Amino acid sequence: MAEPLYAYDVEEQLQERLAANLAHVRHRIAEAAARVGRQPEEITLVAVSKTFPVEFVKVAYNLGVTDFGENRVQEALPKIAAFHPSGLRWHMVGRLQSNKAKKVAEAFDWIESLESWHSAQALSRHAGALGRRLPVLLEVNVAGEASKGGVSPEALPDFARQVAALPQLEVQGLMTVAPLVSNAEEVRPVFRTLRELLERLRSLLPQCPWQHLSMGMTDDYWVAIEEGATIVRLGRAIFGERSRQ
Ligand SMILES: *Cc1c(COP(=O)(O)O)cnc(C)c1O
Repeated sequence: MAEPLYAYDVEEQLQERLAANLAHVRHRIAEAAARVGRQPEEITLVAVSKTFPVEFVKVAYNLGVTDFGENRVQEALPKIAAFHPSGLRWHMVGRLQSNKAKKVAEAFDWIESLESWHSAQALSRHAGALGRRLPVLLEVNVAGEASKGGVSPEALPDFARQVAALPQLEVQGLMTVAPLVSNAEEVRPVFRTLRELLERLRSLLPQCPWQHLSMGMTDDYWVAIEEGATIVRLGRAIFGERSRQ
């Protein structure tokens, strides 16, 4: 019969499991980067901790992860309040509602999912009141899926021009959530399109840095890296299976 587990053993098991997952992920990131002549340091790993308790975040942080992502403001705020050492960046990756813009501007370090002019204005205003400048990514719905957020590729240039004019937001690049497919190769064109959109914006709006492409999740991050991702957002590959999205 199994011995009862003490809290100490549970913690140690969690650490071993996350360490193994991270080693595997870092190895695959390095392999994918090498295949296309890139350096692994060019790629930031964002660990998406949604549905997992803040203890998981602390363990991953102690294993060297510096960036964490959440997709729901209500769930994220207590975690951020509980753990936000300097050098740790919290990324908002989910649907943004303008009525939560104040809390988002206060708590998060990066906004990856900007898709509405209303939210952009509210975020800029609240960031200004806090004396900060917020790095943002514009979310693009490359595949035109009704269930997903993001502006259409057609609407992107005008949206980018508007957001770039807001003083308290620093437009760093683009983000997308690719369609769910059984073979990661099928979403390669989505990633390629996002990179092409970024290149076009670079010449259209040279005043913005346009450095970042946030694309690639647990099922497709190696393909995204081959197509130029500078940020990959991984949940299950690091923390394990979730009971919800
Ligand atoms: C949940 C989520 C992720 C991570 O998904 P995994 O498939 O677990 O890697 C990445 N980006 C966004 C926007 C998410 O909501």
